[in-house]
Amino acid sequence: MVQHQLPHPLPAAAAAYPGVLLVDHPAVTDRVTLLRDVLTPSNVFRQLVSEVSAFVAYETLRDLQMTEAEIDTPVTAGVRFPRIAETVLLVPVLRAGLGMVQSIQELLPLTRVAHVGLRRDEVTHQSNVYLNRLPSDLAERRVVVCDPMLATGGSLAQVCSLVADRGATDITALCLIASVPGLQYFHSVHPQVRVACAAVDLELNDQAYIVPGLGDAGDRLFGPPD
Ligand code: URA
Repeated sequence: MVQHQLPHPLPAAAAAYPGVLLVDHPAVTDRVTLLRDVLTPSNVFRQLVSEVSAFVAYETLRDLQMTEAEIDTPVTAGVRFPRIAETVLLVPVLRAGLGMVQSIQELLPLTRVAHVGLRRDEVTHQSNVYLNRLPSDLAERRVVVCDPMLATGGSLAQVCSLVADRGATDITALCLIASVPGLQYFHSVHPQVRVACAAVDLELNDQAYIVPGLGDAGDRLFGPPD
């Protein structure tokens, strides 16, 4: 019998961090492997980012507030059934977070989208905010920050701070791949923010890329800037 060996103790790594939801369903993990593959072309990569984002959102939004609606079925009138009552604010972190938004919007009936743009300095690896379209009051709003790569955790922590500064208390960071050092840092800054992801990788390289990771998610989604 063939023994299948995972390269890393992925679920164990994620379980070490409270508030981290690792969606490790085979249909998700298989897609993440294709995302990692350098031979996967951009159009397939975009489709996979979209699909995996929807799977992770589906798992993490199980506790959405519901209400009852009265409907007629083709065979009986005036029956009451559950509908989603909550409007979720999606906050894609530009550029790469954009690739996650459409499928999550298609999953949910009620969403708003507020873009935040960060530019990463390739030398210092620090991120600066160049766009902030967050609504001024987020006190009653569930916020899902979308960024496919939780690498150092710095930019995601920065965006979650902007969101928390507007009063949000229900914040989820939705990623595709998170690094262990990134999770460690992020949790130290935002212990109350839930993280949902499809894979956990152990390391970063000296360019702050996740290893093995999938490369530059923005470039693979949209092409390199020049
Ligand atoms: N951003 C990416 O797109 N990939 C990484 O590995 C790290 C940050």
